[in-house]
Amino acid sequence: MMKCPNCQSKDLGKIGINQYYCWGCFIEMSVSKGIINTHQVEEDGSLSSLDDLFHEDERKLS
Ligand SMILES: [Zn+2]
Repeated sequence: MMKCPNCQSKDLGKIGINQYYCWGCFIEMSVSKGIINTHQVEEDGSLSSLDDLFHEDERKLS
């Protein structure tokens, strides 16, 4: 079961192929090669990566 690496919530909405939205902390996630990539949506609609905030172990799909 996938969970948000930021807030550990499992309340994730699917927004596209391998793309998810966390209802707990309002970040977007995309999954590639078993790794969760995290993004924050900025006010202008652009995405900025949050991956630096997490260890790779935290971003692996178990
Ligand atoms: Zn979250």
